[in-house]
Amino acid sequence: MLLEVSGLDSHYGRIHALKSVSVGVAEGELVALVGANGAGKTTLLRTLSGVQTATSGTIKFDGVDITRMSPHQRVAEGILQVPEGRQLFGPLSVEDNLRLGAFRRGGNPDQDLERMYAMFPILKQKRHQPAGTLSGGQQQMVAIGRALMARPRVLLLDEPSMGLAPLLVGEIFNAVQALKRTGTTIFLVEQNAYAALAIADRGYVLETGEITLTDSGEALLANDRVKQAYLGL
Ligand code: ATP
Repeated sequence: MLLEVSGLDSHYGRIHALKSVSVGVAEGELVALVGANGAGKTTLLRTLSGVQTATSGTIKFDGVDITRMSPHQRVAEGILQVPEGRQLFGPLSVEDNLRLGAFRRGGNPDQDLERMYAMFPILKQKRHQPAGTLSGGQQQMVAIGRALMARPRVLLLDEPSMGLAPLLVGEIFNAVQALKRTGTTIFLVEQNAYAALAIADRGYVLETGEITLTDSGEALLANDRVKQAYLGL
């Protein structure tokens, strides 16, 4: 596994938000973690990127224990998170937001920019507009593009469908799927279980801080418990 999480616990004071969570993502894999509001999805991503402390358990990346590594060291290792709510620099242009993504790695980002525009043609059209004036779906594209500009070894996506109209949700998930086809390793955390599991190689279900199910994306979509709890079927 490229990213391997074993027995991870995380607390907010006395709230036990993650309870012995074990998940893994292999190189080139698209793995989805689904769960309801408050299940601990964001906490898991925060613990993976190092802004939240693990109270026990280990996180290994490419065989190296990174559990105590600082957030910026993890970024330097290639672990990039696209945060929920996107956090773009609204007044800056789309292109400047994208360029910022390549800042830490240095070098000339022009080729990478062209790749982003090929993936999200609408961003090329709007490249001189302030990012804050774009629609929610387009801002999500900028956020994903900005993370990709850093050439991540694993991309952590926090609820990319959040607040988007159904049509745009489809567009974003198509983009995530296309990204996977280019070989990018992706860990996708989502409340929209259907959309996430439909494109995932494997999936996990997180319930009140615990992993309760894991299987292929396809098998989870067909699972009766998943259908009842998350797909409203
Ligand atoms: P959402 O979809 O709403 O983002 P989530 O699955 O990401 O939900 P988390 O935000 O990780 O869930 O929250 C997991 C648990 O930890 C919840 O019980 C939540 O109330 C609690 N929690 C989250 N952040 C904090 C905090 N800063 N202080 C205290 N408790 C918190």
